Amino acid sequence: HTDWNFDSTAARRDQYYAASLTRFTPFRDPIVFKKGQGQYLWDTEGRKYTDLLGMNVCISVGHSHPRVVAAAMEQAQELTHCTTMFYHPTPAHLAEELAATMPKGHDWVVHLTNSGSEAIDLAMTMARTYTGNLDLLALRTAYHGPTAAAQSITGIAGWRHPGMPGNVAFVPEPNQYRGIFGEGTAPYLDEITRTIQTATSGKLAGIFVESVQGYGGIIAMPPGYMSGAADRVRAAGGLYIADEVQSGFGRTGDHFWGFEADGVVPDIVVMAKGLGNGFPIGAVVARKDVAAPMAEKFMFHTYGANPTSAAAARAVLAVMRDEGLQENARAVGAKLLERLQDLKDKHSAIGDVRGKGLMLALEFVTDRDSKTPDKEMTAEVFEACRAEGIILSKSGPFQQCLRMVPPLCLSQEDVDHVTTSLDGALSAAANLRR
Ligand code: PMP
Repeated sequence: HTDWNFDSTAARRDQYYAASLTRFTPFRDPIVFKKGQGQYLWDTEGRKYTDLLGMNVCISVGHSHPRVVAAAMEQAQELTHCTTMFYHPTPAHLAEELAATMPKGHDWVVHLTNSGSEAIDLAMTMARTYTGNLDLLALRTAYHGPTAAAQSITGIAGWRHPGMPGNVAFVPEPNQYRGIFGEGTAPYLDEITRTIQTATSGKLAGIFVESVQGYGGIIAMPPGYMSGAADRVRAAGGLYIADEVQSGFGRTGDHFWGFEADGVVPDIVVMAKGLGNGFPIGAVVARKDVAAPMAEKFMFHTYGANPTSAAAARAVLAVMRDEGLQENARAVGAKLLERLQDLKDKHSAIGDVRGKGLMLALEFVTDRDSKTPDKEMTAEVFEACRAEGIILSKSGPFQQCLRMVPPLCLSQEDVDHVTTSLDGALSAAANLRR
């Protein structure tokens, strides 16, 4: 028997969830969700919400997509789990299908994990093993996951805990709105070279780059940054590792992978979230020669390559293709961006509007000249939207951005609903301050 009552659910959480888990409840009035379909969610009272957060970017093809659920169900009924020490065709098919999404010209191989941060850990070990070097570069407003290794390359202080492993130097994020060198790519690339010379041994294992930073506040790497960073890091013996956990799977619209926007060919690609549409799965896809030295020691994730999640992921790839969801992300994302830009013209609290495809953000400032981050305004608009049935996420190092990463099936009608609600929320918040 599951007790759906809100108060007893809250009480149970308070009593039995560890503090490490309870802090991450961003809503003033939390919600108990009961059901999901497409881009919508329903709470226990039957209230409908538009999910612009995609359950934190996990939901790529839509909540509880019938084809994904059926694929996982059929597999779970036949054989729920089969570790990689035995052979099973489903994860092997998935590996083939993921390798086929990578740039031509290399042999790509796949190591399936249970989550994004495990894949990040593995990519770190792989890069260090292949190059024989320890030092890594990462970006200052990067987020790469909660495990100790992933935290060690996570730049945002709020996500880092004491005692994380070292050998990591951070470079400034090429944020075109408030980055320390302003607009452009070259000064940020020069800083990579300077950082290699002054803050590392000079010999690198690699650099980790989110093609579009998620928790950093939707920071797309500017033209030339990814390829320029790869050149500089490779000159120091290191690898280029793309974290596509948020920006992958057609989310940016123009491309299936975020790194493709810059023509860079990574040595390692890390993915998770949208791959499983809610089923737990992650993957490292690497050049075959880069992955080869890992054969020297064991590396095995108990649930990695489990056929149930792999069956779900295969269905996700098929649905993405059959329903044209990357194209939908491009078209609907462009419309949403346009409408957000209209809102910026109308509301001075919005300092910046940015992103691509269905990976977008609004950034709030107290005034446009000083660009002082406005965390309070962000929170007010966030709560007002929630009251209107729109689920967003606060992000950015100052919690000054509203991030939008909905399921890729978002419709034009949703765009109208969301932007009308945002408009109302912004006017109400501005009136409150008068
Ligand atoms: N990289 C990025 C860019 C992420 O956003 C996340 C998760 N928010 C991770 C890695 C870690 O993934 P997971 O939570 O599946 O461990």
